[in-house]
Amino acid sequence: MAELAYTPVDEIPKIHAELRAGFNSGKLKSIEYRKYQLLQLAYLVQENADRIEKALQSDLGRPAIESRFIVEILSIEINTTIGDALTAYESVEKWAKPEKPPFHLNWTLMKPTIYKEAKGVVVIISPFNYPVWLTLGILAGAIAAGNCTLLKPAESTPATSSLFAELVPKYLDNDLVRVVNGAVAETTKILELPWDHILYTGSGRVAKIVSAAAAKHLTPVTLELGGKSPVIIDPNCDLESAASRILWGKVVNAGQTCVAPDYILVPRSFQDTFVDALKKKYQEFYPGAQGPKEDEAYSRIVTKQAWGRIKGLLDGTKGTVVIGGEVDEQGKYIAPTIVKDVPGDDSLMSEEIFGPVLPIVPVEDLDEAIRYVNAHDHPLALYVFTKDDAVKKKVLTSTQSGAFSAGEVLIHPGVEGLPFGGIGPSGSGYHTGKYTFDTFTHFRAALDSPSWLDKILGFRYPPYSVKKLKA
Ligand code: NAD
Repeated sequence: MAELAYTPVDEIPKIHAELRAGFNSGKLKSIEYRKYQLLQLAYLVQENADRIEKALQSDLGRPAIESRFIVEILSIEINTTIGDALTAYESVEKWAKPEKPPFHLNWTLMKPTIYKEAKGVVVIISPFNYPVWLTLGILAGAIAAGNCTLLKPAESTPATSSLFAELVPKYLDNDLVRVVNGAVAETTKILELPWDHILYTGSGRVAKIVSAAAAKHLTPVTLELGGKSPVIIDPNCDLESAASRILWGKVVNAGQTCVAPDYILVPRSFQDTFVDALKKKYQEFYPGAQGPKEDEAYSRIVTKQAWGRIKGLLDGTKGTVVIGGEVDEQGKYIAPTIVKDVPGDDSLMSEEIFGPVLPIVPVEDLDEAIRYVNAHDHPLALYVFTKDDAVKKKVLTSTQSGAFSAGEVLIHPGVEGLPFGGIGPSGSGYHTGKYTFDTFTHFRAALDSPSWLDKILGFRYPPYSVKKLKA
């Protein structure tokens, strides 16, 4: 495993002060300069795509094809990040343009305007699972909005985080963007300092630490978290498509995706039919007897600790393993594993799995499935597979979640124009595209009122009199 050089803790306040000075220099007030930095960001990723791919392979055992693209429209990490930088480059003039509120006769003469101003010096704290996109993709929005940014990548992806420390100073203006590498001690130091916004992506447990630290400075936070994203299966669905998409959603990045299907809710009478469809797909995806064990196109679990956590959940299950189940500690390998007849209070239902294990919880019917979802934390994503529009509508309108997809999994964060974010325990705030720009933007309300308006509005001054009002 690659070595990651941690930033000395006592350098962090100095970096904070240098970024503040960078912000005060006003360089990023220039849209042209923002565009230049955004192009540089796109070049950083494009010119180093091979090295990034290798780093991801070293950190996550991630197959290159997954890092570059899965299908033409669904790119993960490298292409998405280049796309985010270029979209921001092309759109920043439009996004940053002052806006007028809707016309209103009472106020129009005061020229009401909304100016889009940078928040200031911001922090992006990123997780390990999509370390490029969730660091540099988000950075594109912060730069477009005119902020100076501190990046704090994950320590559990040492090769990728080392690459950031090497490449960011080469491609981007050091007064405006910096990287701090490290783990808890370094992040704790960062959180002691006053920032103008913190965007944190990771677990709910750490989000509480981040929020509590931010509250001391009244720093606004955006929390991009995870949780257990359910899939509801209606027997009246396209079974083959449901099985392919759900299994795919669970094997990409070995299930270490915040919007991966976490568990299935299926009518008990349909459970075995659905399991058979998954078995057929599993054979098609991984035709060898070994499953994907020797397959380079299947990721590994990020650390032995994470591997142990997932194995512990699997060991504790009262359900029956019907697909996969093979594990290998040395290789941090866990086969795509489907477990059926999982009770609602099972070990596999106790926390976000964040690995390639998919429990199936049988229920009586759709109503029971909806009740189960509503009795738990609002998920980051909720999926339903059905041909029936009434079922789609019922699930959509009787639940709450960060996002909702019918007939699809995983794709929505990449769909341009859609906000990406959770609700309640799965997060607050949004990013991707213009939503990232808005997250890092202060919408400054402004008026410019001419003094002659007092000919009309002079009635406001004391001494108050009804006569003046009528005049
Ligand atoms: P994590 O919370 O362990 O780590 C994320 C970041 O927090 C890292 O940079 C880490 O250094 C820092 N950190 C860890 N412990 C800390 C502490 N005590 N104090 C301060 N900082 C600390 O998360 P992870 O394991 O890297 O990522 C997995 C989680 O992230 C999952 O829950 C997943 O669903 C979620 N996630 C959410 C999204 C999203 O966009 N909503 C995307 C990816 C991952």
